[in-house]
Amino acid sequence: MENVTVLGAGAAGLAVAAQLKKRGVDCVVLERGPGVATSWRGRYDRLHLHTTRGLSGLPDFPIPRAYGRWVKRDDLVRYLEAYAKRFGLDVRTGATVQRVKPADGGWSLRLEDGTEQSTRTLVVATGYLHTPAVPAWPGRETWTGTLIHSADYRNAEPFRGQDVLVVGPGNSGSEIATDLAEGGAASVRLAIRTPPHIVRRETAGWPAQMNGVLLGRLPEAAFNAMAAAMARLEVPDLRPYGIARPAEGLKTRLRTHRYVPVQDVGIVRDVIAGRVRPVAAVESFTETSVRLADGTSVQPDTIIAATGYGTGLPEMFDDPTLFDDTGVPRVNGGAPARPGLYFLGYDVTLGGMLRQAAIESRAVARAIA
Ligand SMILES: Cc1cc2nc3c(=O)[nH]c(=O)nc-3n(C[C@H](O)[C@H](O)[C@H](O)COP(=O)(O)OP(=O)(O)OC[C@H]3O[C@@H](n4cnc5c(N)ncnc54)[C@H](O)[C@@H]3O)c2cc1C
Repeated sequence: MENVTVLGAGAAGLAVAAQLKKRGVDCVVLERGPGVATSWRGRYDRLHLHTTRGLSGLPDFPIPRAYGRWVKRDDLVRYLEAYAKRFGLDVRTGATVQRVKPADGGWSLRLEDGTEQSTRTLVVATGYLHTPAVPAWPGRETWTGTLIHSADYRNAEPFRGQDVLVVGPGNSGSEIATDLAEGGAASVRLAIRTPPHIVRRETAGWPAQMNGVLLGRLPEAAFNAMAAAMARLEVPDLRPYGIARPAEGLKTRLRTHRYVPVQDVGIVRDVIAGRVRPVAAVESFTETSVRLADGTSVQPDTIIAATGYGTGLPEMFDDPTLFDDTGVPRVNGGAPARPGLYFLGYDVTLGGMLRQAAIESRAVARAIA
């Protein structure tokens, strides 16, 4: 039986493994992909972190200055590879854990290849954004056009000259819409159900993320009012272009929907220029057209569903009481969810997920050590 096993060699898993090692606790990291940072390797080409380099590094080994303020996808992968090497972490790749069950004095893991392993303590860090989710829109199965999830989008090349409908104005959807508009799609529409909170990535060198870190503890009403006032100052009024102001405060949406604001890396400019056209939410499909919530229909060649992810955790565990109805662990971070069981990287904050993973990794390692 292993002493400590970590599931997932993403930022959170690597950080906790390094923190355990620092405290004299060896552990094994099981990773389903061919290397560390599997989820980052698969993300779209133009992706830079929306959080600053200084606030995105993992404990005891910062992201190199040479990677600049907004770290490129490939540089983050390089950094995570260097992180694993630096701390000599025991990462076993190609190891997909399918089921986890309580076992005598610990946890039993069944892997995809049919083998079983057991461990006294288990840290689950398989990623909050784990399983691409696409709504079960009525008629979806009859649709004859292309439909992909944003997780499968790499760049605009395959969509050159096409009419594309991007669904969901979150960070991925907004940036993909901009990428398509710049990359030669003939028409780009962005379907919006709930108007987004849009923030400027930085203002006079001050990153929006820092507001989340410093002001995130303000009471909800005060934070909401402040965020709304700042949005009015920073972001042009997009109502004439079809994007309403959000009805609900930012911190309220964080609490109720684990929502983080959209960092503007081009969407505001593209909407004003008419290169990205906001449309109503998707309601249903026929073979060739998509019906929208305002009663109109569109006939895109391709739909890119930037409609979020599930954690995939309820499918892994027998015990549904571990999770809320969105599949997020009820107890995570430094406190054990069950004796010898920790979940890491599932808390969404305005300070950024990488920063939060770094904070939680220390707490989990302290609790285990
Ligand atoms: C497009 C996009 C942009 C983002 N930009 C930012 C940003 O700028 N700043 C920020 O802070 N956050 C950002 N995030 C959030 C980002 O997901 C996290 O910051 C970070 O990747 C979380 O690390 P993690 O280790 O928790 O999860 P992941 O990076 O997803 O790592 C989980 C690991 O677990 C492995 N795994 C999964 N299931 C299994 C299994 N069953 N068995 C074994 N291994 C498994 C995966 O292969 C993966 O390597 C972004 C997310 C997306 C989608």
